[in-house]
Amino acid sequence: MSDASLTETSAYELAQRIAKREITATETTRAFLDQIAAHDDTLHAFNETYSGAALAQAAAIDTALDRGEKLGTLAGVPIALKDNLCTVEGRTTCSSKMLQNFYSPYDATVVKRLKAAGAVFVGKTNLDEFAMGSSTENSAFGPTRNPWNTRCVPGGSSGGSAAAVAGRLCAAALGSDTGGSIRQPAALCGIVGLKPTYGLVSRYGLVAFASSLDQIGPMTRDVRDAALILNAIAGPDIKDSTSWPQTPPDYLMDIDKPPEKIRIGLPKEFFGDGLSPEVATAVHTAVDFFRRNGAEIVPVSLPHTRYGIAAYYVIAPAEASSNLARYDGVHYGHRTTQASDLFELYAASRAEGFGPEVQRRVMLGTYALSSGYYDAYYLRAQRVRQLIKDDFDRAFELCDVIISPTTPDAAFELGAKSNDPLAMYLCDVFTVTCNIAGIPGMSVPCGFSSSGLPIGMQMLGPVFSESTMLRLARLYELAHDWQKRRPMIASV
Ligand code: GLN
Repeated sequence: MSDASLTETSAYELAQRIAKREITATETTRAFLDQIAAHDDTLHAFNETYSGAALAQAAAIDTALDRGEKLGTLAGVPIALKDNLCTVEGRTTCSSKMLQNFYSPYDATVVKRLKAAGAVFVGKTNLDEFAMGSSTENSAFGPTRNPWNTRCVPGGSSGGSAAAVAGRLCAAALGSDTGGSIRQPAALCGIVGLKPTYGLVSRYGLVAFASSLDQIGPMTRDVRDAALILNAIAGPDIKDSTSWPQTPPDYLMDIDKPPEKIRIGLPKEFFGDGLSPEVATAVHTAVDFFRRNGAEIVPVSLPHTRYGIAAYYVIAPAEASSNLARYDGVHYGHRTTQASDLFELYAASRAEGFGPEVQRRVMLGTYALSSGYYDAYYLRAQRVRQLIKDDFDRAFELCDVIISPTTPDAAFELGAKSNDPLAMYLCDVFTVTCNIAGIPGMSVPCGFSSSGLPIGMQMLGPVFSESTMLRLARLYELAHDWQKRRPMIASV
């Protein structure tokens, strides 16, 4: 098998073929490392790669297989990790100057679980600093580029993971999603991204942004791979008190069995002003496919969607301002050399260590939580949160899954929105309500724009409905070939 076809093979098939000894973990890892060597100068998907460690891990897997040992479900599969997931290997930077030289003393639970399943880690991927952004331009280490058009952003904040998967620089990746950071870059890079139900995947070892919204999830080239990765990372964890105590189902088990008698809800609020006609057409065409395949399509209403962005941009910064208080130049992270007393040490370390967007969020959040404004902003946002949840509860009485666009438009050019925070925040208009309600959401490729950029549809379901969503998405992908198209990465 040639190297090129190895990097075209799904994570699921790679795992099968490695287990059957048709291919080795070493040649598989090498094929992806070659792709990184060929394209990462252009894409800058990675903050750090682990070539040596990855090849050693792969060799150990091949040796164990030689001995006839039975290994985990991901044995030998090259995977990338968003650089806000703690790893003992290498640095964990959150693409921030603040953590530029931070070495975590422990692995995140998801990292431990992937390791136990035999995954080979190829490196840590770029993100918007502390996962705040929608384009990966807020990275302190420079932006990532979209493999489909290197003048365009890959989305964010998990833009490095999305570009790495789409560009075949790894077989699959993990991202984190607080308001859309898995689904939005997945849509813009033409891959599958799944944000699980809040509590399904442990957040232990994910550098906290907004703890009541953050979830880790798979970013993969196809739906079956998302199920495979979710199987490895989901499930209770004593180290995360918000993790759901029950054992999750096997998401791969019925993955090829389409759900029966499915009712798909179309929320009118997601198809209004500001949606690009090309995206609307692609999503409607996908909905027609489901209709032809026996789904009942029902109109639903999520009237409080219009307050989603406002509520999110109070709640998320409020939690962030509290979570980021720990970076004080004393405990860990960047420490200024320009301070003569403790207060100056705090102020200057933070001013030097945090980039402009992070500072903006800390100020927004601190303001919203300050006495006198707490009721007007934070408390009111929490009330809106309840109303948004209630909207979904009502909608899910009428339907099993909601389908919408993931983003208002396809990828935009670098720099197009970076001087306009509000325009950037509006990229999240369809994704934030899912985190606010704690429900699962997924982006699935559903077409291309006239300029050849990918388009994603979003599926939303009631809590713990991942199995249904995955099976529905799988039905769709088996009948389409969007995932088989491959970007020609043009150097810049
Ligand atoms: N774009 C959103 C923000 O900037 C979402 C980020 C995320 O999900 N991590 O807050």
